[in-house]
Amino acid sequence: APISGIDYHATLNEEQYAAVSSEPGAALVIAGAGSGKTRTLTYRVAWLLDHGTDPWNILLLTFTNKAAREMTERVRALIPIDLSRLWSGTFHSIANRILRQHADYLGYTPAFTIMDSDDRKSMIKSIVKALKLDEKSSRFPKPEVLSSLFSLADNEGAGIQETLENAYPYLSNHLDAILDVHEQYVLRKQETNSMDFDDLLLNVVRLFQEQEHLRALYGARFHHILVDEYQDTNYLQSRFIDMLAREHGQLMVVGDDAQSIYSWRGADMENILSFTTRYPSAKTFKIETNYRSVPEILELSNAAIAANEMQIEKRLRSVRPTGEMPPALVPLNDDRMQAKFISQRIRDLIEEGTDPNEIAVLYRAHFHSMELQMELTRSEIPFRITSGIRFFEQAHIKDVVAFMRFVVNPRDELSFRRMVMLLPGIGPGMAQKLWARWAACPENRAETPPESFSALMMEFPVPAKSKPGWMQLCYTLDELAPGGKTANPASMLVSINEAVYDEYMQSAFENYDQRRQDLLHLAGFSERFDSAEDFLSQLSLLGNTDDESAAADLSGGAVTLSTIHQAKGLEWSVVFLIGLCDGMFPHQRVIDDGDLAGLEEERRLFYVGITRAKDQLYLTYPRWNCRAQGGTFMQMPSRFLDEVPAALVEEWEVE
Ligand code: ATP
Ligand code: MG
Repeated sequence: APISGIDYHATLNEEQYAAVSSEPGAALVIAGAGSGKTRTLTYRVAWLLDHGTDPWNILLLTFTNKAAREMTERVRALIPIDLSRLWSGTFHSIANRILRQHADYLGYTPAFTIMDSDDRKSMIKSIVKALKLDEKSSRFPKPEVLSSLFSLADNEGAGIQETLENAYPYLSNHLDAILDVHEQYVLRKQETNSMDFDDLLLNVVRLFQEQEHLRALYGARFHHILVDEYQDTNYLQSRFIDMLAREHGQLMVVGDDAQSIYSWRGADMENILSFTTRYPSAKTFKIETNYRSVPEILELSNAAIAANEMQIEKRLRSVRPTGEMPPALVPLNDDRMQAKFISQRIRDLIEEGTDPNEIAVLYRAHFHSMELQMELTRSEIPFRITSGIRFFEQAHIKDVVAFMRFVVNPRDELSFRRMVMLLPGIGPGMAQKLWARWAACPENRAETPPESFSALMMEFPVPAKSKPGWMQLCYTLDELAPGGKTANPASMLVSINEAVYDEYMQSAFENYDQRRQDLLHLAGFSERFDSAEDFLSQLSLLGNTDDESAAADLSGGAVTLSTIHQAKGLEWSVVFLIGLCDGMFPHQRVIDDGDLAGLEEERRLFYVGITRAKDQLYLTYPRWNCRAQGGTFMQMPSRFLDEVPAALVEEWEVE
């Protein structure tokens, strides 16, 4: 019997209702932006619970952790039942949860470290160095490049050679060396009990492949699998879903092919296009009403995407009345004027009563916003950045976390090095020696931290100058895992700070006070976690996805600055799309290569940007730009602006 009291007919339109109340089975909901796809998925979860499904049997997959949290919150608000046994999250976080329980099947311990992009770069760097490849060729690809190459290969489920030939043909003369690096990289990860982000998915799929009983166990558990933003799933993600759906086949995916914008990460539109072929019994639902945007913005978005060849025909009609203004097209003299215009406009809007949380500035690439960041800071307009350097990626945060990671997983070589190099007199060479000593101890391979680090390490051959620091470090490690059992994360952080790190920070950074505050926040944040393992895996997942800075105090509301990529699925009352110059957006690369598929993806990105706006949309571009080496040059407005009928926008004269 229904327990929520939701009137599904009253809160959903007919098309949405049909999907929400559909008979169990495979279902594809395909519809344009702002038509209520995510809302439909949320109500579907409520519907299932209302009709007797146990939360334990539901798996909800979304693109960001934040989206997962918000959806679960909304369901909780609709139905007051305990949802802690319902699994929801990103593919990575769900894979992590599964792997933590069965890592031993893959030769890992449950305490494996998740490496972020910096960690993987430094691991690759040390391999390149060890193989002396950088000495043999001064043009050997940098760790960043190798890292993206490996990642792309993993996400597309392709081999290194194939990926190299397709995506990095200009590196093919390095093929053999790159294969060597990759081989070492795979080995090193296993040796150090570490996985990178891509491994989470790769390994969970491997686990299910090799251990059929585990696949069947989870397959039997998840009676209902629901996936948002399905158009951006990659090969591995769709494999993962297909493996889990084998038992029950009750899989509802929602998406919009016109919003597929992650092919550079291996996302494959084919997954959504071929869904009904892979699930022949699947029902398809279409929603043709847009609830988000005023008709003027909707019309512009339709015109913007019309130039794309590759798309499923979709009609969208607006249900909202005419808005307060047509989309504004605002040419500005240069970057600085663009920043000034936007910050002035934002100030006016806030004064007129617009909630700062309802304002977003979106751009093609993070660096397009540098000038604006400075201008907003000068004007004291609070903002949050959902792209770029994040709280958890700052050096001091990573330093203290290295201590914890090492204690939790004493095979974590990168964390060990990072930690010991904080001591005076210990450089990379010395760190290498110390690691070799530690790696030779049998305790290094144990499942848990040793009874006493100091008993094992105190006599390691450190230079005289480093001796006091080294002793201090050994005692601190003991405090972090007294008797071989890790302490709770908050007390670990306090110990690290008091014993070694605070003093180090005073000499290492000019903004000591700010950083000290950050670490206090971090310790506060860690309070909600019971174990260090739990805290660390949350941290790694946070740092690399979407979440906003946890540090800044934005309680009074703040404007959002974001790349369009990271804005997908979200909406704001007022949206500024900035930097609309040819070569910036669309990206110069697709123009130069005459890459039609690439250009279409840029256009979808433009469409995603426009469709984030509910009430007001500003399209801005600077006419002149400065070159890094000095001098200015004129820029053409984006070709995407030429493609839309002039009548759909109103040009503003600002200067
Ligand atoms: P996107 O493609 O950008 O992810 P979406 O299709 O997932 O968009 P939602 O975010 O679910 O769309 O909905 C867009 C907006 O429309 C939200 O503010 C939502 O609350 C509202 N909305 C959707 N359906 C209805 C409805 N039946 N009645 C009232 N409001 C609705
Ligand atoms: Mg959505």
